[in-house]
Amino acid sequence: YADVAMYQAKTAGRDTLRFYDPSMQTALEERSQLESDLHLALADEQLQLYYQVQLNDQQQLIGAEALLRWQHPQRGLVPPGQFIPLAEETGLILPIGQWVLQQACRQLAAWQRAGNALQQLSVNVSARQFRQPDFVAQVEDALASSGADPTQLMIELTESMVLDDVEDTLHKMQALRRLGISFSLDDFGTGNSSLAYLTRLPLDELKIDKSFILNLPHSRNDAIIAQTIIAMATGLGLRVLAEGVETRAQRDFLQQHHCQAYQGFLFSRPLPQAEFDQLRQQLAAAV
Ligand code: C2E
Ligand code: MG
Ligand code: MG
Ligand code: MG
Repeated sequence: YADVAMYQAKTAGRDTLRFYDPSMQTALEERSQLESDLHLALADEQLQLYYQVQLNDQQQLIGAEALLRWQHPQRGLVPPGQFIPLAEETGLILPIGQWVLQQACRQLAAWQRAGNALQQLSVNVSARQFRQPDFVAQVEDALASSGADPTQLMIELTESMVLDDVEDTLHKMQALRRLGISFSLDDFGTGNSSLAYLTRLPLDELKIDKSFILNLPHSRNDAIIAQTIIAMATGLGLRVLAEGVETRAQRDFLQQHHCQAYQGFLFSRPLPQAEFDQLRQQLAAAV
């Protein structure tokens, strides 16, 4: 309801008469409070990257996804779903997104220097960030200032981002690919389905959206969708990763259908860097 109230408040013209609605007032105050808190968050170093492991079908560690967290001084840990939409609306996503790129590259470089780099570190970028004319330069800056080897950096895009302006997308992807960066298509299957562009874009990986994984193996429809995405990705020469894998039964089903990579709570939640490094040591020792 709060969202509806905010939407109405934004779209209603100045002369529109409205009943006084206390819940709308609260929602607006809440939003502007969160917005000014978010301004502080960057300067105050309240943002953090968590890392979630990605495994191959042999249960070997192949990579990680960097996921943004906000450690709010009063509210505690705020998940990205609660502040990224606000950051997108206000434009704060631009400095935040730049910080994410720089922080991810710093961490990647540290792992590379320590000689225990992952095959890939995946980073999410937002549509607004990706559409910036200097996006490629921002990535180059993050790589240069950290000294990270770009061949282990993967950027996650979504279908809607890509389709929004295919020519611009293609141009940027090609420039970044020349640096050695690879690309994953996140949340695959949830956006506007236009399969034609899949072969036009220099993609390396498809991530099956977790909504299709949730009801495996019982849901016949989701089973067919997952199988079809795996077959299509494999046929197109793309690696296919299932996200949101929570149960052994889901993993087993996916494995039977030749899914190549896995990410989800079954293996680990996203972890702060120190805990993530501990988990990696345990996984390495278990081999
Ligand atoms: P996403 O990129 O699709 O990330 C996967 C989300 O699924 C993450 O949520 C992750 O914690 C969650 N997840 C992982 N395994 C499981 C599982 O087994 N079950 C379930 N139910 N969920 C699982 P999170 O961290 O809350 O992030 C939500 C979304 O916020 C991300 O979706 C991504 O779109 C966005 N996001 C996260 N970090 C960043 C960032 O640095 N920049 C931008 N622009 N967006 C980000
Ligand atoms: Mg992602
Ligand atoms: Mg996803
Ligand atoms: Mg996403």
